[in-house]
Amino acid sequence: MIVVMQPDASQAQLDTVVERVHLLGLRSHIIVGVERTVVAALGEKRDGAKQALETLEGVDKVVPILAPFKMASTEVKKERTQVQAQSLTVGGTRIGVIAGPCSVESREQILDIAHMIKEAGATGLRGGAFKPRTSPYSFQGLKEKGLELLALAREETGLAVVTEVMAPEQVALVANYADVLQVGARNMQNYPLLEAVGECGLPVLLKRGPSATMEEFLLAAEYVLKTGNHNVMLCERGIRTFEDHTRFTLPLASVPFLHQTTHLPVVVDPSHGTGKASLVATMARAAVAAGADGLMIEVHPDPGKALSDGFQALTPPVFRQMMAECRKVAAAVGREL
Ligand code: PEP
Ligand code: MN
Repeated sequence: MIVVMQPDASQAQLDTVVERVHLLGLRSHIIVGVERTVVAALGEKRDGAKQALETLEGVDKVVPILAPFKMASTEVKKERTQVQAQSLTVGGTRIGVIAGPCSVESREQILDIAHMIKEAGATGLRGGAFKPRTSPYSFQGLKEKGLELLALAREETGLAVVTEVMAPEQVALVANYADVLQVGARNMQNYPLLEAVGECGLPVLLKRGPSATMEEFLLAAEYVLKTGNHNVMLCERGIRTFEDHTRFTLPLASVPFLHQTTHLPVVVDPSHGTGKASLVATMARAAVAAGADGLMIEVHPDPGKALSDGFQALTPPVFRQMMAECRKVAAAVGREL
């Protein structure tokens, strides 16, 4: 249920509502809006709970939440969530661009790319230090050394570091270096990990599992939100279909669908979504046209020599060109980049 407070409700009235929610055996989440505050009362429904809350002073109305993803739903919060991590803002009029290599490979590689993407207008630096690879024989990432290099690149450029964490026991280590914790597609339904990144408090970039429905995706986000961490970005990175002309199928209808369904910002990753460097820039433009709040793009100084995903990485000149094109599309849809 959502307890909608009157616009002029006092703090004492709000406190009483929260107290009553707890007495009813429900958890409370307070969402402060521009005009009024709402209290989401979550948990098993109790007979009489609605009336008990409705009659309290300062309460305007009590409405049921119909969506299964309660905290993520636009039913609970109409205003769009804006996630901020250092230089990176995702969810405002300006589109946040997170770019960088699939994996951090060396000091020279990550520093080169960080300076280049920054000049081109990106505000977040991606790069995996812990890599979820399909084969256990593939390069697994530089681990802590990779995190140190990312932190160095942030020091030199001011870019926010977005990097993946694969297990709950790695969260503390990765959080020491990262500005945004990325939960990868393979881990979208790793519930202990979702809780651990939520509790850590850093902003989270949650990638859609390749076989997850929108409802499963939003319920995964709900695990993070339920910890009280509201800084969640959803990332559409393509799903598995019968198609094999691309690595995954990138369903851009998810962007407007998610905007109708949730207040969380939506990032699109056309690199993993297509798996082909030649298709990335066009799909990035399409994502901006569809209303994406952010882009995640793999870029490598020399894609042919990349230790992972070189086939989908843009070269620096192509990335610069992509940014220029996306800027025009952004302007056409009332956004900036
Ligand atoms: C990545 O972004 O580096 C990555 C591994 O992507 P995904 O989890 O979407 O496969
Ligand atoms: Mn990759």
